[in-house]
Amino acid sequence: MFTIDDLADRLGGYLPPDEIQQVKRAFYYAEQAHDGQRRRSGEPYVTHPLAVANILANMHMDHQSLMAAMLHDVLEDTGVSKKALLAQFGKPVAELVDGVSKLTQITFEDKAVAQAENFQKMVLAMSRDIRVIIVKLADRLHNMRTLGALRPDKKRRIARETLEIYARIAGRLGINTIRVELEDLSFQALHPMRAERIKRAVASARGNRRSAMREIQSSLQQSLDDEGLKGTVIGRQKHLLSIYKKMRDQRKPFADIMDVFGFRIITEDVASCYRILGVVHNLYKPVPGRFKDYIAIPKANGYQSLHTTLFGRGGMPIEVQIRTREMEAMANNGIAAHWLYKAGQTTHPIAEGSHARARAWVKGLLEMQRHAGDSLEFIEHVKNDLFPDDIYVFTPKGDIMELPQGATVIDFAYSVHTDIGNNCIACRIDRHLAPLSTRLESGQTLEIITAPGARPNLAWLNFVTTAKARSAIRHALKHQQQAEAVIFGRRLLNKALAPFETSLEELDESVFARAFKELDVSSLDALLESLGLGNRLAHVAARRLVDVAHGENTDCVLSADSEKAVVISGSEGMVINFARCCHPLPGDPIVGHLSVGKGLVVHRSECKNLGDRKNDPEKLFALEWSDNINEDFPVALRIEIESRRGLVAELAGVVTDADANIERIGIEERDARLSIVNLTLSVKGRVHLASIIKRIRNLHNVGKITRMTN
Ligand code: MN
Repeated sequence: MFTIDDLADRLGGYLPPDEIQQVKRAFYYAEQAHDGQRRRSGEPYVTHPLAVANILANMHMDHQSLMAAMLHDVLEDTGVSKKALLAQFGKPVAELVDGVSKLTQITFEDKAVAQAENFQKMVLAMSRDIRVIIVKLADRLHNMRTLGALRPDKKRRIARETLEIYARIAGRLGINTIRVELEDLSFQALHPMRAERIKRAVASARGNRRSAMREIQSSLQQSLDDEGLKGTVIGRQKHLLSIYKKMRDQRKPFADIMDVFGFRIITEDVASCYRILGVVHNLYKPVPGRFKDYIAIPKANGYQSLHTTLFGRGGMPIEVQIRTREMEAMANNGIAAHWLYKAGQTTHPIAEGSHARARAWVKGLLEMQRHAGDSLEFIEHVKNDLFPDDIYVFTPKGDIMELPQGATVIDFAYSVHTDIGNNCIACRIDRHLAPLSTRLESGQTLEIITAPGARPNLAWLNFVTTAKARSAIRHALKHQQQAEAVIFGRRLLNKALAPFETSLEELDESVFARAFKELDVSSLDALLESLGLGNRLAHVAARRLVDVAHGENTDCVLSADSEKAVVISGSEGMVINFARCCHPLPGDPIVGHLSVGKGLVVHRSECKNLGDRKNDPEKLFALEWSDNINEDFPVALRIEIESRRGLVAELAGVVTDADANIERIGIEERDARLSIVNLTLSVKGRVHLASIIKRIRNLHNVGKITRMTN
């Protein structure tokens, strides 16, 4: 059995003794924490983390990754807390373990298969330290190697998840040794019969071809030696899943696929690669169109190599890959190749921190790319793959939603469903209540709390980022305005009906039906809405209704009640607007002007802007303030005051003491002594304003104070 001492011996090859000691300490800690737990195979549980650490040791990963591997199931499966790990092993290791545990907690259910792509991106977005993924991949690899003891359905589920997600992530990160093994193990678990058949066929084909392989290999090697080129020729085997996929996707019989001889030539430097290519093309005739230069233009995951196919004896194709030793390490280990190469250096690059590591890897790719000339597309590809700009969050049911960076709770709500957005009143992020403007992070689970009848808020437009949310909010607000217009239109129409000593409620259905035709509206709501929005006049509509009700000629029944004012409170919503020209305040004499499409605009009676509108008396309304008003209203003041330091603070103090808010403040200096302050406040009404002005007057050297209109 493989023991911690075996591992320690192996680590001696690339880690200093004190770090090996720390890895051992993590092992003993895990052994104790998992004490009494067994794997399904019957072995003590700790054999699993030990094996995971061993996989990482083969990749020459650093001691912190190995410690995290030892401890990776401790948070999940034992009573140990993250805090305890932090105290025992320090922050970097505790963070790694926490990161791996978080990935483990995300269970990939069957329904999520279609979301595999998003899931991969989510995993990457969540793993700010790339080592988290590498430890997780090693964990999954060992679980796949020991899958035998599980129930068949569970086996299949894990195999599918491995294939869809972890093998692809390994591929994305260029860790091909792990990718290939994960793929073959998954394939065997999903299709045991097919895998077995291919395996046997490969073995027998290999036997038959052994002498041909050996012949080609030695002639390749010989021609390198003749030219004095340093290089090693290796025979290549296809792995099971790639054979199966070729048979399935290209509908080729097994014999055709195995009819290809694969070789790899590993050499010292890039120049030798191209020279060897020349030698090889000289030895066998190349198949036209099959040469690929991945050295000049690397693949997105950093893979570099020359590929060519040759005509062997009898036209048998020979595939040859030519690359340097470094490229070979990169092709096998991808992002993990860094640790392989940095080993033996005194400073550990990992200590610099997480994200920086992965960035360095990408930077390496970019530098390679620079030699090959600029390719923005390539750069974008790598960047998006490794550092997705988008964020990925869960619905309570476990579906993954993709949102742009910076998206908020409201964006999420609207992306689930427009109704959920419209009725959203609160939200829980990972079970905790959070503000609706909270920016989301990958991996969070969101639960939106809705209330029937709740409506979107105009202020949401200030922080939403998605077009869908924006247009849905605008749309809903427009609806709201319509609803409010109907209510206000009813008030206006009833007021206009009052002089005829009737009301909407008293009029007969049949009257409406006939009058609507004449008024060219389809329903009462449509009529009320157009009245509320100021698109038609209430007294005209009232006259029409009364005419229809009584037969023509109703002039005689006009009562003296017609001058009764409409009472407003400021909380009517979007169909009553307060004019920006004169800023009317409760207490001011006011008058209303029906403005097409906007509804009623409230002006102060003395407002100069009303001038030309007075020619249009049908659109002017007498208005009165309600007795109970709870809204704040804006008012603009112009204050002449002595220039001095701290003036703004002084004014702000006075306004706040008077229980009002400053909306805007602007200062223009008239001369060295005198400043003009333009102040916009929100106040309760005239009385409130008077008390504020009085306080301002009490300041030093105040000149004229003017309430601004027009
Ligand atoms: Mn595990």
